[in-house]
Parts: sequence; structure tokens; C-alpha cells
Amino acid sequence: MKHLSPHSKEWFVAMAKFDPQQAAQTKQIVKSAGAGDVCSLCGDHEVSDYEVADKWFDPDTPVTFRLCEDCLSNLATNEGERLVPLSAAN
Ligand SMILES: [Zn+2]
Repeated sequence: MKHLSPHSKEWFVAMAKFDPQQAAQTKQIVKSAGAGDVCSLCGDHEVSDYEVADKWFDPDTPVTFRLCEDCLSNLATNEGERLVPLSAAN
């Protein structure tokens, strides 16, 4: 299975189709951080890459995010997302 590395050029293209608002927000976060190695949602620096179970950019490409621990637990608790660490999913 193909995984798009979060904040890569391809990832932004796919995210812009999947969730334009989130794509714009993350682009801003990465831009102000000056590097892609930050949380997709808040710009924190302690991050890991995750795949969202049951969400897909397209039939072969699961949605991926780069998340800090806070945003990870927020998504899991408030949104009920199932997030799988990318290293384990590969
Ligand atoms: Zn975060």
C-alpha cells in the first residue's frame, strides 16, 4: 500500500482534494514553522506520522497526518478517529 508522506508535495495535492480547509491550514502551519517536521494541526515539534483507518485520499492511498501527542489524543477522543502509526502500518 502506498503512503503519502505528510506535508510532501503529493500529500498537499491529495489533502487539497480531500479537505481543502485542512490543507490550507496545514500549509500555513508548515510555512510559519519553516519546516515540514511539525504537527499537521498545531505546529508542535514532537511528532510522529499516522494513518487514519477508514479514510482514504483515493482507493489505494490512506489519509495520513503528522501529529503531536495532544492532537493525536484529541482526534482519537473527540473525533473518534482510529489512528495507526505509519511505521506499524507499513
Ligand atoms: Zn498538534
